Amino acid sequence: MKQGNILHIDLTSQTFNVERDEELFERFMGGTAAGTELLFKYGRPKDDPYIPEAPIIFAIGPFNSLYPVATKTVALFKSPQSGELGESHAGGRFSMALREAGIDAMVITGRSERPTYLAIDNHKVAFKSAATFWGSSSTSCERILREAETVNGRKLSIVRIGPAGERRSPLACAVVDSSRHFGRTGLGGVMGSKNLKAVVVSGNGGWEFEKAEMKAYNEVYDVFYDRVVRSKDMAKYHDVGTSINIKPLSMLNGLPTRNFSQGSFESADKVSGETFARDHLAQHIGCVHCQCGCIHMATLREEFQQWHYATSKVSYDYELIYALGTSLSVSSPQDILRMILEVERQGWDVISMGITLAWASEAYVNGVITDKDTGGLALNFGNTESYLEMMRRCAAGEEFFRDLELGCAKCSEKWGGKDFAIHYGGVEPAGYMTGENFTVSSLLGVRHSHLDDLGYSIDQKILTKPMPVEEQVSTQVKEAQWRMILNSLAICLFARGVYDMDIVVKGLNALSLDWTKEKIDELGVNMLRRKNEWRRLCGFDPDKLAIPPKMLRVRSANGRMSEESLRYRMKLYREYSGIG
Ligand code: SF4
Repeated sequence: MKQGNILHIDLTSQTFNVERDEELFERFMGGTAAGTELLFKYGRPKDDPYIPEAPIIFAIGPFNSLYPVATKTVALFKSPQSGELGESHAGGRFSMALREAGIDAMVITGRSERPTYLAIDNHKVAFKSAATFWGSSSTSCERILREAETVNGRKLSIVRIGPAGERRSPLACAVVDSSRHFGRTGLGGVMGSKNLKAVVVSGNGGWEFEKAEMKAYNEVYDVFYDRVVRSKDMAKYHDVGTSINIKPLSMLNGLPTRNFSQGSFESADKVSGETFARDHLAQHIGCVHCQCGCIHMATLREEFQQWHYATSKVSYDYELIYALGTSLSVSSPQDILRMILEVERQGWDVISMGITLAWASEAYVNGVITDKDTGGLALNFGNTESYLEMMRRCAAGEEFFRDLELGCAKCSEKWGGKDFAIHYGGVEPAGYMTGENFTVSSLLGVRHSHLDDLGYSIDQKILTKPMPVEEQVSTQVKEAQWRMILNSLAICLFARGVYDMDIVVKGLNALSLDWTKEKIDELGVNMLRRKNEWRRLCGFDPDKLAIPPKMLRVRSANGRMSEESLRYRMKLYREYSGIG
């Protein structure tokens, strides 16, 4: 049986059914492309993202669980943060569990009357009460459900929200298994609006191979496997991990520091990946069926009473150190880990919460936010206790602090300090001050991820090897289109160097899926356009995109950016990609 099973779940009526649609996957492969088409079919682009009818779509691709590092599940929804396309990708065990359950995509609509979680076993769905653990942290929720739902040793995947999602924070993420996240653009808030605490998936099936396919499949598998275990790039992710970039980016003046005030952090050494690894790394773990294992888990030991300690495992990487470290001028790894853990428990997107805290600090030191607003709490940069207290007060719903979980765009509209609010279309950016390519990527990238295209990488390349602007932008657009394919296969983009066109075609053909290079190219080009069509239906207008004024005053790795040049690049990007 090939791809084609779409599980529909209606939380209002507590009903479900499995639809078979092979054509969708034949035309759109899977993952982001098939999921986007489902969003066109069931989405409500003009409506509030929190109405019950608004769908959450999960989709996997043909490679998931069959080839190495094909570990992602794509989530699509209307974003409560940007008001347009909501898209995020997560690893963990989720895609394998969906494959084992024989589900290629899932469409969840409706709103349960009471807190609920879904227990999905192959094609059966049980609607269960989450009343007793509504309010639990994302970490406790996982423990509770793993114990409650593990039957006969079958492996589960658990996607859940923390209290932030329950409060419908547009910054809320959904946490997957061990420290993986549907981080960006607010899936957690949409789940919360449906009274949906968690989705638990397990199954005992898999891909059904024809006997004749096995030889070709094994041959292609070996090539992928070999490339993954021998690739220098993959080794880099495994060894020190993405946090290896802290020191070089700081040296290049590309590491956002104190709310994007400068690109170099004087304490970069203290918060570098090497320091974290030497002093705090406890183990590497990986998503299921990944030979790389790039997830770095640190041990955090905290005294909560004299002679009493709590020990937690906390995952860290480059973006987390940027958001809760350099952006806040916090130079103690231990302190950064404490804040990561607090964000994880609440279930916020780390980048958005970190940059909103940074906005608050800058607004405070400039007198826009006063002690009267904060009840006397000083919000200066570098003060970890203050940041932890801000998050606690935010979770407790206290005046001023509760607005922090709306993000810096909405906070600055209400409280002032727009000049310090670093966001693109309402979404706080990933951690790069490399230059204009990354900025264009933040402005036009479809899922507000630095992985939308190569922007930050091109910025770094042109420091030593200049390239005409037109070539920079066309390289960026081609990469964005190719990533539509990688995200339709739902592979981890850390393995992008492993998955080139030739091996992708061979991999698909070995599964008897009839794809050619031409058909794949066409899909990549079309999907970038299709996603932008959906964004426009939501009201997204690239002509109205604002560049944060502060970003035009500070120096990036490539020097000061100019609005004229950025607007020219955006014009080219739109022309080359045909997104209008
Ligand atoms: S490289 Fe890291 S994020 Fe990617 S699949 Fe492997 S463990 Fe998961």
